[in-house]
Amino acid sequence: MANVPTKQQLLDELKERIEQASITPELKKQATQLVFGDGNAEADIVFIGEAPGKNEDEQGKPFVGAAGKFLNEMLEMIGLQRENIYITNIVKYRPPNNRDPLPDEKEAFLPYLQEQLDIIAPKLIVTLGRHSMDVLLPGLKISQVHGQPKRYKDQVYLPLFHPAAALYNGGMRQTLIDDFALIPAILQKIKN
Ligand code: URA
Repeated sequence: MANVPTKQQLLDELKERIEQASITPELKKQATQLVFGDGNAEADIVFIGEAPGKNEDEQGKPFVGAAGKFLNEMLEMIGLQRENIYITNIVKYRPPNNRDPLPDEKEAFLPYLQEQLDIIAPKLIVTLGRHSMDVLLPGLKISQVHGQPKRYKDQVYLPLFHPAAALYNGGMRQTLIDDFALIPAILQKIKN
């Protein structure tokens, strides 16, 4: 009988395919490396950010800079660690000077992000900021829907503010912490 590949093996294979493909060639040319994703391939929760920054580009892992430190703190507040979750970005090469990803860059990566999510098949997808929300839950306003779970095409999503935007904004920071605190109960409800 043929061996069934693990989710991690399927992710590794997808990563290799992206590295070999010519997705956003301009970004690829300027980036140090692909920042594919990190964490547990069997996770119940996947977090999706915007695009790698300088630290992520250097280390090849998502959310390892200041926003990542804040994200780790919020995970800890709800009893989770990076090893318990999976984390990635919509755009997987660093945009120059940390500019916002362009619509065609997000579109180019979307089928690959979708494949990544199909492999992991998480119970809950948490979008961080409006860029990942826009591609997965089109037509919503983050200021109106943050912290509200949304079911869309048989998948539950939780749109949240981006930790980098909330980092130095006291009000938004507390809102993000409060929204984060909702995650365990939302996950429990999905499992029941
Ligand atoms: N911001 C993001 O959206 N993603 C990262 O990986 C780091 C910062």
